[in-house]
Amino acid sequence: MPDATTTVAQLRTRFAQFVKERDWERYHNPKDIAISMSIEAAELLELFQWRPDEKIDLHDPAFREALEDELADVFMYCLSLANAIGCELSDITLRKLAKDEAKYPADEWRGRAR
Ligand SMILES: [Mg+2]
Repeated sequence: MPDATTTVAQLRTRFAQFVKERDWERYHNPKDIAISMSIEAAELLELFQWRPDEKIDLHDPAFREALEDELADVFMYCLSLANAIGCELSDITLRKLAKDEAKYPADEWRGRAR
């Protein structure tokens, strides 16, 4: 399903179903989801660990699939945390983006990464 036609709500509902069908709601509390999110982010980092930049091939099918799997794991825990704490992911993302835009005005920060 392309991002252009899939809503965040659809993904949240689908993940909530996945959790409910396995009777895992008791495990999907904010603390454990946050821990799991960090673990999955570490699994994503592990794919790059010790690999020189020139050896990172995003077109290698096996590497690409592993990378996408870990990205999806992190994202699913984002969806799960939003479900668990009851927030609107679109609202909080746009709110935080507005804070970052204010903190890093484009005119001042263009081309700088410090
Ligand atoms: Mg994983």
